[in-house]
Amino acid sequence: MFQRILIANRGEIALRVIRACKEMGIETVAVYSEADREASYLTLADEAYCIGPAASGESYLKIDRIISAAEIGNVQAIHPGYGFLSENAHFAEVCRDSGIEFIGPPVDAMAKLGDKVAARKIAIEAKVPVVPGSPGLVTDEEEAVRVAREIGFPVLIKATAGGGGKGIRAAHNEINLRSELKAASAEAEKAFKNAGVYIEKYIEKPRHVEVQLLADQHGNAVHLWERDCTMQRKHQKLVEESPAPNLPQSVREDICKAAVRLIQNAGYYNAGTCEFIVDKDNQFYFIEVNARIQVEHPVTEQVTGADLIKEQIRIAAGEKLTLKQRTIPCNGAAMEVRINAEDPENGFRGTPGRITKLRIPGGHGVRFDSHVYEGYMISPHYDSMIGKLIVHKPTREEAIACMKRALDEFILEGPGVKTTIPLIRKILDHSTFTSGEGDTGFVERSF
Ligand code: ADP
Repeated sequence: MFQRILIANRGEIALRVIRACKEMGIETVAVYSEADREASYLTLADEAYCIGPAASGESYLKIDRIISAAEIGNVQAIHPGYGFLSENAHFAEVCRDSGIEFIGPPVDAMAKLGDKVAARKIAIEAKVPVVPGSPGLVTDEEEAVRVAREIGFPVLIKATAGGGGKGIRAAHNEINLRSELKAASAEAEKAFKNAGVYIEKYIEKPRHVEVQLLADQHGNAVHLWERDCTMQRKHQKLVEESPAPNLPQSVREDICKAAVRLIQNAGYYNAGTCEFIVDKDNQFYFIEVNARIQVEHPVTEQVTGADLIKEQIRIAAGEKLTLKQRTIPCNGAAMEVRINAEDPENGFRGTPGRITKLRIPGGHGVRFDSHVYEGYMISPHYDSMIGKLIVHKPTREEAIACMKRALDEFILEGPGVKTTIPLIRKILDHSTFTSGEGDTGFVERSF
């Protein structure tokens, strides 16, 4: 087992990894930008190194600085968290070439799955249903039109290197498609340094269901059931839960098995998530693999009892999975909501500022994963997510009731600071949500 790990990330996930390491008797090295100098989790790490100014391009995304910190800190492994360099195959390669284990998948599988068109091909080979669409990248307008006519409008133009809900455009007709195609490609080039786009049928009012996976370096792979992340805004998740409501048991088992098949076909190991959309008839389609730990991993931890960060570390150290598929439980119902510092009434614009008053909920079944505290300065430089509130109860009804009372307890105030709490509170009260009948457009249509 590793003696010392560097965490190439910030915020709640940095703290989450430090906590797991402490429980495993592993020392930690944190890195931080000048903007995060006062982050309280830094004092929980055994060492902390400043790696540059606030802008993430100058700090958390600087591979050379992170490797230098890893060398000075004398670590054997790097945990990348999520976001930043977590899905950067080049970073994983540099780590391993420097004799430092990257806590994540093999470079090859990462590179393949990080490209959505290549991932679709792997899914097709593994006999996992994909959304009908172009067989590969579309480069010319006529081909795009031909594919769209064949699968039927509306269609989505998606960036093959896209992520984080960015790089997706809808086209409702031929004229639309012709005009959007070039723009989509130019936008993809700018955002992802890869102009490749492809076409997928737009599935009407789908649900988002994803499967948590763990695989070791010895060919063993298991799923830890599914999460439903249908409540989204701008293709980004707001509420996540497990099990998925109203999903027939047979579909549930099929989707989980399909996900395992897919990552085994890709030669994948460590933690990963296979994302699907599910249509009105419970037909599911693969959309992408997230080759890293995800924000919503605590939901799965609550229902299965597994510690996914510890599992990641054990797998990276070469240990065999001890979890056996047949005995992985899915107990009760867990739900997570994202507390973001943003203004839902103003296009979800970020609302950075100092937290002057904070009351964190607690009590039976409540978990709060966050790095913030009273007096904390929410930086404008990073993602607006400042915490994750998670509940676990025997049934979904009880989980919703618990989440509502926890949100009612929550106070987070500061000059100019707004949060997603009031919006999420309204979602939880809505009959479409409580009946489990929402779709991915529900939040934007209804609020
Ligand atoms: P990203 O990598 O940017 O997160 P995804 O491919 O995972 O992009 O899609 C993000 C979200 O967009 C999904 O959760 C779903 O809500 C929506 N979406 C993606 N593909 C389709 C599709 N073919 N039809 C309808 N909605 C889709």
